[in-house]
Amino acid sequence: MLDYNHKNADELKQKSLWLFDMDGTIYEENRLFDGTLALLDFITKRGGRYVFLTNNSSRSVEDYIKKVTAMGIQADRESFFTSSQATVRYLKEQLPGALVYCQGTGSLVKELRDSGIRVTTEMDLTAEAVVIGFDTELSFQKLRNTCELLTKKDIPYIATNPDFVCPTDYGFVPDCGSMAIGIRYATGKMPLVIGKPEPTMIEIAERKFGKTPADTVLIGDRLYTDIASGVNAGVTTIAVLSGEAKYEEIMSYEKQPDYVFQSVKEIFEELSR
Ligand SMILES: [Mg+2]
Repeated sequence: MLDYNHKNADELKQKSLWLFDMDGTIYEENRLFDGTLALLDFITKRGGRYVFLTNNSSRSVEDYIKKVTAMGIQADRESFFTSSQATVRYLKEQLPGALVYCQGTGSLVKELRDSGIRVTTEMDLTAEAVVIGFDTELSFQKLRNTCELLTKKDIPYIATNPDFVCPTDYGFVPDCGSMAIGIRYATGKMPLVIGKPEPTMIEIAERKFGKTPADTVLIGDRLYTDIASGVNAGVTTIAVLSGEAKYEEIMSYEKQPDYVFQSVKEIFEELSR
């Protein structure tokens, strides 16, 4: 099989763990891309497994199961790794028992609490860490609390994901990375980032399913998160042209993906050739 650059991509036929970005890769907001169902079906029939990785911390895994199953994709709790789950892991390992102030959606707060993290969403000077996520329910009071805590206390400050923008049907809205820039102007502080491009979510998925980097391929449309995380984790990477990254940007990016395909449909067609 050949990729967009006519590069031999036969090694993809041996991959057994397929990690997909979602927005811009398998769908755009609520429109499923052609070829997604065919590719996922092909992977499963060949004994492989697909998992969706997302930096979007505004929705819980339950929200995602509802969203993709409504599109006809077979998925359960095991089908997703989110930056919220990676954040839970980080907090449990690095800050066990800490009271966390969370600037995030109700879904993120619930996910942290359900996982045993102590969370406050009110101004509380006993908080021992601050977590910010992609907050589609953001209020000025939440921003104010974050700034007050970061100004008055020198405590760990964590962002679920570094994305500057999130795609919508008309363009973009500011995501967690943009909020972090605003908060930096106010407090002088920058967060530690948990989601892609860190390799954490990929490593969790490999461990969970007993796979190695050689078994694994990551597919995404954004260079500085998706492709960078795959390169950082040492897995095979595919950039698709159905979302953010343009062909010229991909070819001049410092961390080159192994392969480029137009879309998931083209991957399926080449794989099944
Ligand atoms: Mg994407």
